[in-house]
Amino acid sequence: MKPFVVAGGDAAGLSAASKCKRAAPDREVIVFEKGEWVSYAHCGTPYYVKGEVDGLTDLVSLSPADVAERGIDLRRGHEVTDVTEGSVTVVGPDGEFEQPYGDLLLATGAHAVQGPFDGLDRRGAFTLHGLPDAAAMRAFVDPDFDPATADIGPMDPERLRPLADAPVPETAAIVGGGYVGVELAEALSARGIEVHLFQRNEQLLPPFGAAIGDAVRAELNSEGVVVHTDTAVDSIAGGDRVERVEHADGTLDAEMAVVGVGIRPNTGLAEDAGATLGDSGAVAVDRYGRTDVEGVYAAGDCAEARHTVTGEPTWVPLGLTANRAGRAIGATVGGEPTPVGDVAGTAVVKAFEVSAGRAGFVGDESARAAGFEPVTETITAGSRSGYYPGAAETTVTLTADCGTGRVLGGSVVGTDRAAKRIDTLATALDAGHTVAELERLDLAYAPPFSPVWDPILVAAKVLAGRLE
Ligand SMILES: Cc1cc2nc3c(=O)[nH]c(=O)nc-3n(C[C@H](O)[C@H](O)[C@H](O)COP(=O)(O)OP(=O)(O)OC[C@H]3O[C@@H](n4cnc5c(N)ncnc54)[C@H](O)[C@@H]3O)c2cc1C
Repeated sequence: MKPFVVAGGDAAGLSAASKCKRAAPDREVIVFEKGEWVSYAHCGTPYYVKGEVDGLTDLVSLSPADVAERGIDLRRGHEVTDVTEGSVTVVGPDGEFEQPYGDLLLATGAHAVQGPFDGLDRRGAFTLHGLPDAAAMRAFVDPDFDPATADIGPMDPERLRPLADAPVPETAAIVGGGYVGVELAEALSARGIEVHLFQRNEQLLPPFGAAIGDAVRAELNSEGVVVHTDTAVDSIAGGDRVERVEHADGTLDAEMAVVGVGIRPNTGLAEDAGATLGDSGAVAVDRYGRTDVEGVYAAGDCAEARHTVTGEPTWVPLGLTANRAGRAIGATVGGEPTPVGDVAGTAVVKAFEVSAGRAGFVGDESARAAGFEPVTETITAGSRSGYYPGAAETTVTLTADCGTGRVLGGSVVGTDRAAKRIDTLATALDAGHTVAELERLDLAYAPPFSPVWDPILVAAKVLAGRLE
């Protein structure tokens, strides 16, 4: 049997390769990764910049030796450049070659949108997508960073030297109020840098809804981050280094600029293969992660998935989605057909002491656009029994469909372990619960953890009243 070939050696790609090897130990599995790093956690990079994570290699889950031990033929520094029927073209250190495949997984991830900006080539301008970006940013903001001794894995210390030798910035502009922008606002602030966060529209974290956007904005302000909403940045200006950003309301002098205005899926190989892209721009796949080209799968940030609530294709580029789809495809290719699973867009984020989660549809607008007749309630309840130390207000927004009573989604925000409460809601969405069913859930109670009525149950009770 021809090998299972994987393009991309991170979350989706290595999950698939590992699972296939376990399910079918005799199958040859080859992973091509164009970069130096494999099996790394993008998600930890803001905390590495902050300094909460010490070394860059702490963000690596499996070393190349661990991968080899699983029987996977891992080739770093190898870029898949083309896909034809039954074969991929690969460019590696020894030149270009053809690699036949029996099954092919495209797990090529996404890339950071550079924005409509000039100036990203100036010293002090960054995007954050991958460990080399994280190392560059850390070198620039950490006065104690010495490339010669820092834990930077296979990276060349000399590449980081100019950034490490430059003066630590006093002021940073972050362009984009999504979760990466918010996490970096905390990280750079913690390093004593004056942070200005620019968001083009009126709300931070748009997919998380207004309650979370407002709470996070208040928290950032109270921690000294200057939040500029409704303020588009036009350019990152200066000479060979960043000196200022020009924005809709004027100019900010800053020695650092971070652009976090979103990502786009890497779909070039899928298009070469002749696979169809969905409306989102990511690769269209079926329940098993198959594209419409025989033997070609796609998973992770480059692929769509099915929405838990609507059953329609959607694009939610997140970590579990990638790991889970990769693992399922590995099982399928290894002879155990396994669906990749649906996604509700379940996501969590923190800004200093505030943490927040969202799942499904948050608020009426997006639910109505998807064809529902939504009704939404927002409540505030205690996070623990009122008499127990540490209790804090938790705000829950819950949306349901008027006609069926089905829960469509919601959000949770607060300062006392609020974010992970969203998992109750994600579970209810997956089960297709109505508000009445959510209200009846047997959730755990003891004073240090929760009031008798968990805030999610309080929200369900209030929303049920509206639906009657
Ligand atoms: C700063 C940041 C913070 C994040 N935080 C969170 C979080 O808190 N929670 C969460 O759920 N998600 C988070 N994410 C998203 C999460 O990291 C991604 O959803 C996940 O890594 C996607 O995995 P993937 O395997 O699809 O893509 P990637 O992890 O991007 O891996 C794709 C790999 O493919 C390689 N590649 C690309 N093209 C080729 C080619 N032609 N040939 C060979 N190799 C190729 C790339 O070099 C890369 O290593 C975060 C992302 C970022 C950038």
